[in-house]
Amino acid sequence: MIHRKDLILNALGIARWRIKPFATEAAVESQALINPADGEILKTSSASLLTQLKPVELDILEKENILVSEALNWTDLQQRVTACTRCNLCNSRTQTVFEAGIRQARCLVVGEAPGAEEDAYGEPFVGQAGKLLDNMLASVGLSRQKNVYICNVLKCRPPGNRNPTPIEVQQCSAYLMGQIELVSPDVLLLMGRFAAQSLLNTEASLSHLRGRVHTVKIGKRDINAIVSYHPAYLLRNLPEKLKSWADLLLAKQLLNGSE
Ligand code: SF4
Repeated sequence: MIHRKDLILNALGIARWRIKPFATEAAVESQALINPADGEILKTSSASLLTQLKPVELDILEKENILVSEALNWTDLQQRVTACTRCNLCNSRTQTVFEAGIRQARCLVVGEAPGAEEDAYGEPFVGQAGKLLDNMLASVGLSRQKNVYICNVLKCRPPGNRNPTPIEVQQCSAYLMGQIELVSPDVLLLMGRFAAQSLLNTEASLSHLRGRVHTVKIGKRDINAIVSYHPAYLLRNLPEKLKSWADLLLAKQLLNGSE
C-alpha cells in the first residue's frame, strides 16, 4: 500500500530508503570474520546477529531507517547523527564522526568506520591514513578542501577498531544514504570492503569489485561508483598502491567525462 507521505515525497522527487538485509547468513559470517582492511582473520561472536533478528525486529529496524530517511536537510541529518543511540556504539564513542570536505563536491569518498584519531577529532580520515588519502587525491587534482566530500559507513568508532557488525552497518546505513542524496555526487569512491559491499549490496571481494565502474541507485539517480582499497590497508601493503592509483585515475576519468 502506498501511503500519502510516500506520494508527497515521490512528487518532490525524494525517495525513501528501504535498506535490504545486509547479506545471507553465510556471507555475514564470512564478512565479520575477515578484516576488510587487511584480510586478517578476526574472532567475533556477533557474525550472524542480523540473521538472528526476528521478523518483527527487522520490521522495527526498517521503520527506523524510514524515519531517518525523512531527514531532508543537512541540519536535521547531522543533528540526528549527533544524538543517535540506534546501536551500542553510542555508549563507547567520544563523539560521532559525520563528515569532512565539501558538501557540493562531485566526488564522494566513503570509508568504513572512525578509528581512535577520528573519534578524538570528530573528523573522518585523519592521522596517517588520512594523510595518505589526501596525497592520493591530490595526485589526481582532488582535495577535501576544494572538491571532495568524505564520510564513513559508520558514524561511531567500534571499540578497539574491531570490524563493524552487520547490524551496526544496517542501523547506520540510512545516515549514509542521506549524505549521498544531499551531496548528489557524480562519482562515489568506495574505500574498503564494508563501504563497497554495503553500497553495492554484494558479497564479492574487493579484488573482484575494483577496476570497473559500478552504479549505485540513490533516490532517482544512478551514481557511478569506483571501488578501491582503504588507505589504512595501503599503509601496510605498499605494492597495492599502484592498483589504488589506477582506481583514482578511473574515478578522475569519470569526473572529467561528466563535466
Ligand atoms: S554507529 Fe550509527 S547507528 Fe550506531 S550509534 Fe553511531 S550514528 Fe547511531
